[in-house]
Amino acid sequence: MDLEVWIRSIVSGFILDSPENTLGNQENNKAWEEPLVGFSNGNDALYTFYKKDIGEFYLTPLEIFTRTFTDIDVDAARLTVISWILPHNERTKSDNRRRRVYPSERWARARIFGEQVNDKLRGHVVDSLQNRGFRAVAPMLSPIWKVYDNSRYGRASNWSERHAAYASGLGTFGLCDGLITEKGKAMRCGSVVTDMKLQPTERPYDTHHAYCLFFSRHTCGRCIPRCPADAINKSGHDKTKCRNHLRETSVFVKQNYGFEGYGCGMCQTGVPCESKIPTQEDL
Ligand code: SF4
Ligand code: SF4
Repeated sequence: MDLEVWIRSIVSGFILDSPENTLGNQENNKAWEEPLVGFSNGNDALYTFYKKDIGEFYLTPLEIFTRTFTDIDVDAARLTVISWILPHNERTKSDNRRRRVYPSERWARARIFGEQVNDKLRGHVVDSLQNRGFRAVAPMLSPIWKVYDNSRYGRASNWSERHAAYASGLGTFGLCDGLITEKGKAMRCGSVVTDMKLQPTERPYDTHHAYCLFFSRHTCGRCIPRCPADAINKSGHDKTKCRNHLRETSVFVKQNYGFEGYGCGMCQTGVPCESKIPTQEDL
């Protein structure tokens, strides 16, 4: 089997067929729908741009790879970033659409138990590659992954799944900072860096805001009133206000749903970019 087809089947097969894909509720509902998968080259200029723009602490694929596998000398162009999007299912989205301040139970479950599924998928992709003789690392599972408090953009990590997805042709950023993909913004994403060489996915956009109607058509802005924390305005997304609200949601989730968790997602649901790349007709 062609390597690209094979790795796509590894990612999709896990989500579609594995019992691990669960919200962990009584009904044992699936957390995620069929993923989108894209690839970018380790030498893609975007990765060095991220480092320049976000801060020296931001890691390129080559830095993550060579700090993980210290015994090998590899060229950045030999590396591939495999990126995926895990779309929420319709029930999770419709439950959260009706919420105004705190998340629905399914949304909060997807944030916690769904992200555990994403971690298992990261591990599964790494194991599958290694079993086939390739080296691979999931940055988010690596002890190298860190969050820095004083970046140019405030709190920022040294690897961003959304930025990897943008580089891998999977979507562009919205006014609220979420990534708008073919399956919308109601999703989570993941990535693995490997020395399996794959053809990069074409990026069907010219700018990092191409799919957001606020930037492309000077309309929409529907995510602004959806935010219960006043964290989105015409200048963008206030990470501090957002994080403070997320902290508050943990009390709500514990009291109402009975598990340790948090979540919001108001700006990801009930908006024209929730489940697709929006058009004027969606307004
Ligand atoms: S709701 Fe509208 S303005 Fe907000 S991210 Fe989506 S398309 Fe952009
Ligand atoms: S996650 Fe919630 S608090 Fe944060 S920007 Fe979106 S709507 Fe606002």
